[in-house]
Amino acid sequence: MNRKVYIYANDTEVSAKIEKDLRTKLIKSGLRVYETFDQDTELILCIGGDGTLLRLMQELDFPKAPVVGINTGHLGFFQEVPPDKIDDMIFQINQEQYTLQTFHTIKGCITTDDGLFRYTALNEIAVKGAPTYPVHLNLSINDSFIERFSGDGLCVATTAGSTAYNYSLGGSIVDPRLNLLQVTPIAPMNSIAYRSFTSSIVLPSSDTLTIRPCMDHDDCLTIVYDGLMETHHHVKEIKISLSRQKVSMMRFGNLHFWDKAKSKFL
Ligand code: NAP
Repeated sequence: MNRKVYIYANDTEVSAKIEKDLRTKLIKSGLRVYETFDQDTELILCIGGDGTLLRLMQELDFPKAPVVGINTGHLGFFQEVPPDKIDDMIFQINQEQYTLQTFHTIKGCITTDDGLFRYTALNEIAVKGAPTYPVHLNLSINDSFIERFSGDGLCVATTAGSTAYNYSLGGSIVDPRLNLLQVTPIAPMNSIAYRSFTSSIVLPSSDTLTIRPCMDHDDCLTIVYDGLMETHHHVKEIKISLSRQKVSMMRFGNLHFWDKAKSKFL
């Protein structure tokens, strides 16, 4: 099939070289490579690490077109294709020998005295206070009050993000066939003075989490979404839930998630 393709790459020397070769090979194989991304783009090739894929998602607003990740980064959890397998990859794309793996994204809506702010992320949205003090946050699930959290913050991860920041915080790795939200405390305080869950809690995909600052001095909050950061003052509440925006990655070969998890983490 004569697809319309867009190439997105990070700015390393190795990615630039791969992009040049890839462009030539794609055109030779009959694919149409365009300089700009638009809504008619049928396939996106992303060259870089997982961080590059996260930037692509933000810059292209979580595109509908499937993405193939060519890994020139370090871990390559999303970015599966090694640069020396590009010829096989082009053959498999043209022969339609692939499966599409879909990922749900997460959205956060922040209400402040200055207005509403919205964020979407593929891995996670984390809410943090000032770096030098614990933050105190009231946490509700579907408007039912659950706990007053005290500590560095809360990380709300998607299934896709379960292997990223969530995992470093002691959260669980989740099989991508499950669709859920994982709320993991960041350095929670747990004493007779402060008491909150010290492990992750896992919510079904339909639930909404509401976070409200407990006191006025807690209302300056930093939102970290897929590694990007914004600080908001006079925060009233933050609502976090799964978003309707989904993205898909083109997968070739072995799709067994735990084989991949084993090869990257053990
Ligand atoms: P980075 O600091 O350059 O890299 C973070 C590392 O996380 C990289 O090794 C990256 O893989 C890997 N990674 C990203 N998404 C992943 C996923 N879904 N599963 C497994 N590993 C993943 O920052 P970045 O590349 O811009 O990535 C931003 C992400 O970093 C955030 O979304 C957050 O999850 C993570 N993070 C982790 C910590 C921590 O573990 N303490 C703290 C802050 C942020 P590549 O090497 O392939 O790029």
